[in-house]
Formats: sequence, structure tokens, C-alpha cells
Amino acid sequence: MITAESISFAYGDAVVLDGVEVTARPGQIVGLIGPNGSGKTTLLRTLYAALAPRAGQVSLDDVPIQTLHRRDIAKRLAVVVQEGGGELPLTVTDLVLLGRIPHLSTFQRHTTNDYAIAAAALTRVGARQLADRAFAGLSGGEKQRVLIARALAQQTDHLLLDEPTNHLDIRYQHEVLQLVSTLDVTTIIVLHDLNLAARYCDEVVLLDRGTIRAAGRPEDVLRAEVLEPVYRIRVQRVRTDDGFQLLFRPFDERDTSELAS
Ligand code: ADP
Repeated sequence: MITAESISFAYGDAVVLDGVEVTARPGQIVGLIGPNGSGKTTLLRTLYAALAPRAGQVSLDDVPIQTLHRRDIAKRLAVVVQEGGGELPLTVTDLVLLGRIPHLSTFQRHTTNDYAIAAAALTRVGARQLADRAFAGLSGGEKQRVLIARALAQQTDHLLLDEPTNHLDIRYQHEVLQLVSTLDVTTIIVLHDLNLAARYCDEVVLLDRGTIRAAGRPEDVLRAEVLEPVYRIRVQRVRTDDGFQLLFRPFDERDTSELAS
């Protein structure tokens, strides 16, 4: 379980998060949604202790994260972020093996078991054939899969992802999120695409300028009257065979005056 209680954060004087609460219960996928600049990435960074909140507390399975050492956090929590691994001159296997480091003792080298875990993780994400390639030379979609494999090799109960569908074509977006939804880990995921959030998240949390506007099941939060004032875009929700789809169009002048009134 991941719990964030009353999280506040500021960059200098600029308050970016104000009393934010998020709970991901065991095995759940919770989506963080909201417009650009609403604080999603900052919140995620407090969840993996890359940023210390000014107030409030993050806990993993009820253990306050600030009482845990880095290595213990890494045994419990894996993170897939955009900048992860970047330009390092590593092969794909080397990169995935980084996920094993929290499990090694000081100066211990990777064992055959670590290599087996890394290979299994690559197979799981459908990237086994990339094992010997240079990570830096992969496409965006391939990199994303490999970063998820590294997180899997870390064998944690908790997973955080920041926009894992960036750079992916539509089929891969669904493949990556389907993969995430088959994992038996507690997951918090930043997503821009609200239709993907609707399909794959158990709950969503809608951030707006550093506060929570709405939280709950996707069908309750992803409604036109909730989304329109936050994103300032017209939203239409259409029933489909297996749920709903959101359609978007810009406000016209009539819409803008209606909102202002
Ligand atoms: P989101 O992920 O929802 O786009 P962010 O958490 O990245 O939002 O940003 C929230 C706000 O904090 C924005 O106004 C952004 O400009 C600001 N911000 C983000 N990172 C920094 C930083 N390192 N220093 C100062 N301000 C920042």
C-alpha cells in the first residue's frame, strides 16, 4: 500500500502541492491526472522520496518512507521515469541488472540468479531480443519496455510510473498498460491520456494547481462537469461496448462565457 497524507510542497515560494492525499491499496492501479503544471510529477517525486514534502507524510505499507534507507526504499518501490537511464553507455541487460543492485550486498557482483531474473523481466515485457543492444540506441518505445523490465527485475511490491506511454504508438500504449495491469503490484501512474486512465486505472486522482479536484473510480471522476473547468476543454462522454470514451473539442466563445458566469 502507498499512502500520501496531506502532502504539501513548494519550489521556493511557489506552492505546487497543497494538502494532497493519495492512497493506492494493495494491487491497485491509481492514476494521477491533471493539466500540465498541476503537480503530478512533483507529487510522484515526493512518493519516491526524491523530494521531501514541506508537510505531510508518505508511507509504504504503513512505514514512513523517511525512516527507510535508500536501499530499503529500492527493495520496496520501483520507479519508471522519463529521464531514467538516459544516455548511459549500457547494454539493455546491464540496464535491467541495475534493478538488482538493491538486492546485492556491498561489493557483491551479479549472480547467475540476477541474470536469470533480468532475462525473465525482458521476456515479460517482450524485449528479450534486445538484450545485447545498446540502450541509448533504442527507440522510445523499446526504451520504455526496458525501463519497465528494470523495475520488474527490482522485484518490488510497489511501482511508480511517470507517463510510461509517452513516445509509444497506440498499440504499444495499450500493451504497456495491459502489462502493468497484469502485475501484482501496487501502482501509481501519471497519465495524460484520460481514456487510457479510464480503461486501466482502478482509481484516478485529478490534480488542479496543486490540489485534488476529484478522486475515485474513473467512471465517477471522468465526467464532463468535473473535467471541463479543470482542463478548459469541452468534454463529451460516449458509451461504448466495454465502458466509455471521452471526446474533446476546444471551448468556443459561448462556452467561455458560460464558464465565466
Ligand atoms: P505536472 O507534472 O502536472 O505537469 P509538475 O509537478 O511538473 O506538474 O509542475 C508543477 C509546477 O511546479 C509547475 O508550475 C512547474 O512549473 C513547477 N516546477 C516543476 N519543477 C520545478 C522546479 N524544479 N523548480 C521550480 N518550479 C518547478
